[in-house]
Amino acid sequence: MRVLVVEDEPRMSELLHRGLTEDGHTVDVGATGAAARELVRYADYDVVVLDWGLPDVDGLSLLREWRAQGVATPVLMLTARGTAGEKVLGLRTGADDYLVKPFDFEEFVARLEALHRRASGGTAGGASLGDVEFSRVRRQLSRDGQTLDLTGREFQVLRVLQDRVGDVVSRSELIGTVWGPHFDGEPNVVDVYIGYLRAKFRDLEAERVSIATVRGAGYRLVVGTKETP
Ligand code: CA
Repeated sequence: MRVLVVEDEPRMSELLHRGLTEDGHTVDVGATGAAARELVRYADYDVVVLDWGLPDVDGLSLLREWRAQGVATPVLMLTARGTAGEKVLGLRTGADDYLVKPFDFEEFVARLEALHRRASGGTAGGASLGDVEFSRVRRQLSRDGQTLDLTGREFQVLRVLQDRVGDVVSRSELIGTVWGPHFDGEPNVVDVYIGYLRAKFRDLEAERVSIATVRGAGYRLVVGTKETP
């Protein structure tokens, strides 16, 4: 991916630049809104990482400007503020995703890749979930040369969790998206499918991806760290 990082804190931008470059991406950094404007005018980025608090302009205004000009590049907003109101404001303004500092680098990369994949029509062959490859086209999980097929429901549940990697997704959201708004069966059908997915990760001996249960809230796809469900 070609990534633009707009961030004025040198430590943060260095960290993102180094990490993304090591992962094989091409990265430009702009430390001000003015620099970011110039870069976006002359280069074609796959994704933009945009800090909310910049010295000359706030990230949200810059985002509004770009959207008004028809710049459709997916934008991941970074911010130290995490209130629900600001999150909603960021997303309404046209941010495609939102991450609150401090964040886990693996999660950051997974979200960037998810944005890029969605923007490119979701047809990119596969995405890595930690040490497991998830192919949306073939509806398969693979690791170390072993491949498992996903059933239709398993695939849809995992897709929803992947699009929101790191976030808690509630049972009712999963039911609404996967089974439809008129589903009137047992809500624990979700738990059953989460169980099937966990079994597949287990069969693949996955170590860096898991589905965590967040008691009373729902489920969260965790990528990059070991976590016991
Ligand atoms: Ca800042």
